[in-house]
Amino acid sequence: MVIATDSVVTFHYSLKGEDGTVLEHSDPGEPLAYLHGHGHIIPGLEKELSGRSSGEALTVTVQPAEGYGEYDANLVQRVPRRALRGISEIRVGLRLQAQTEQGPRAVTVTQVVGDMVTLDGNHPLAGKTLQFEVRIEDVRPATAAELEHGHVHGSDGHHVH
Ligand code: ZN
Repeated sequence: MVIATDSVVTFHYSLKGEDGTVLEHSDPGEPLAYLHGHGHIIPGLEKELSGRSSGEALTVTVQPAEGYGEYDANLVQRVPRRALRGISEIRVGLRLQAQTEQGPRAVTVTQVVGDMVTLDGNHPLAGKTLQFEVRIEDVRPATAAELEHGHVHGSDGHHVH
């Protein structure tokens, strides 16, 4: 079966950054499954998977605009440490939920200097060109229940949540 809108696609992947280091990968025996054509994975990868079939392996390079977005310097802010009251250990790399005018947003602590803490609201992969190695394990049509819910219900389509 060929991947098209409303296919349930099961795949293994590894993701490398520009310098070739592996940033993420699926675990052996635990491939990812998603409902194709609904924007559940980044656009650059979803586009390349269209029309592929089970058993295929491919390398996909995704530019930031079709990945996690361009890096936006406006999403970086410096706040005094006291603005983060209640957080016991503030250190670089810590991820937090910040309240913003647009609602809660995930931010990462990227710098701590004296009393000032830098919070970055960009996705950690924003602005990066990504290289995916993908192996398609299985392609099947979504069940009626999966389409109604808009997500995958396990490898055989049974409800597991
Ligand atoms: Zn469901």
